[in-house]
Amino acid sequence: MKTYTTNPSVSGTSVICSILGHKFRSTRKITNHFSEYQCRCCGKKMTEDTRGRLISLTPELQDINETLNMIFKRRQIQL
Ligand SMILES: [Zn+2]
Repeated sequence: MKTYTTNPSVSGTSVICSILGHKFRSTRKITNHFSEYQCRCCGKKMTEDTRGRLISLTPELQDINETLNMIFKRRQIQL
């Protein structure tokens, strides 16, 4: 009998994602042009670069997105 153990604390790409690819869904709108995405399988977070391509959401990019979102919201209130 074989037993398989899974470690939920392991972050990164799941086996399913590495075979089938991530299933990203939009989790947050930053501005009209930028959004944040999260994989439904492994929870990997992505965002968009200036060309609209998906890139890994690093803590630095998360900070930038926070700032962009703040500016975006402020401008919407003023308009
Ligand atoms: Zn995934």
